[in-house]
Amino acid sequence: MNFLPTLFLDRDGVMNVRTPGDYVKTPAEWIPAEGLGEAMQQLSVSFGRIFVVTNQAGIGKELMTKRDLAAVHLKMTEIIQSAGGHLDAIYYCPHRSDAGCDCRKPATGMALRAKVDFPDIDFTHSWIAGDSISDMELGFRLGMRTVLIHGKEEELEQLAALPVDFRFDSLLDFARHLTRIFPI
Ligand SMILES: [Zn+2]
Repeated sequence: MNFLPTLFLDRDGVMNVRTPGDYVKTPAEWIPAEGLGEAMQQLSVSFGRIFVVTNQAGIGKELMTKRDLAAVHLKMTEIIQSAGGHLDAIYYCPHRSDAGCDCRKPATGMALRAKVDFPDIDFTHSWIAGDSISDMELGFRLGMRTVLIHGKEEELEQLAALPVDFRFDSLLDFARHLTRIFPI
């Protein structure tokens, strides 16, 4: 059986330009990372399924609505699809950091929900690409391969010490190196 690995993707700072200290509340504020289309097209060849897992506490803080987020994700999905890439599902945590939910990364709730929706997901045959400690921690908890993309400025010192599997400057860089790091 040709069973390609699964990829979990962080959104802000990986798929789109981060807006430090603010939330992406409208499609206009969602600026794709350079080379996103090419990256997603290549990743879609190498990974069987691709999921976005994103913390969006701006909803819990009532700075934006679920409808706003859906509009942002429609733009994101259109850009990816027009480049020949795909996403299988987008999972988001709408809760504030003090809500004690089980889905805000580094908690594993969003990945576990993906496994409910797609039961053949094998976390030990999955990868996570993100820019923050919480993304890498989610990956560690579920036994995924971890790929640090650039790294959040305010976490760079701690991120340097994390035992991640791969480090790349951008999602495109990761996608372009896949032929070198596969087969896994
Ligand atoms: Zn949550």
